[in-house]
Amino acid sequence: MHVLVLNRNFYAIQVATWERALTLLYLDRASVVDDQYQTYNFSDWLELSRTIKEHPGGFIHTPYFRLAIPDVIALKFFDEVPPAQEVPFTRRNIYQHYGYRCCYCGRRFPTSELNLDHVIPRSRGGATDWSNIVTACIPCNLKKANRLPAESGMRLIIPLTKPKAGPGLVLAARSPVPIRSSWQRFIDKAYWDSQLETDG
Ligand SMILES: [Zn+2]
Repeated sequence: MHVLVLNRNFYAIQVATWERALTLLYLDRASVVDDQYQTYNFSDWLELSRTIKEHPGGFIHTPYFRLAIPDVIALKFFDEVPPAQEVPFTRRNIYQHYGYRCCYCGRRFPTSELNLDHVIPRSRGGATDWSNIVTACIPCNLKKANRLPAESGMRLIIPLTKPKAGPGLVLAARSPVPIRSSWQRFIDKAYWDSQLETDG
């Protein structure tokens, strides 16, 4: 079970294990944030945990008390925004960046029907990075083949862009953490950090 960690301004900065989150809470370095944006210190949360019957995050039990595992905590003394991060160049992030649309016809597709396309073909020195890769549906990908868009009578309806390197939360795919619905209000966009599997 993981806990979303916000800074003092309720900006999502990381994901922590529940053990780490409860330690921060116990040390009074963080408060629990509920879905009404109310905050609780350790003793308030302990009190509240007595009365909660069901809690999706579960409880920890000790001989003396039980404590609900929070969904979200906010640090009390950390108000910096983490440094801007580059959005990792991964298949999943590329799909997300282009809204799961084919950049040539603009239509939305399930990921199983989207390919990654080198705008300038690799055979002509086109790079495999944000500057040259777009999403393409299978028919558009076949039509374009190994040519420049103009040579295939095509054009990019959705322009090639690099995602803004914002202070977004990057979740590591190496330790996959499912995004809990209660986190969603604090996260605009979460990107995943993993290797790009290329089409070859
Ligand atoms: Zn298409």
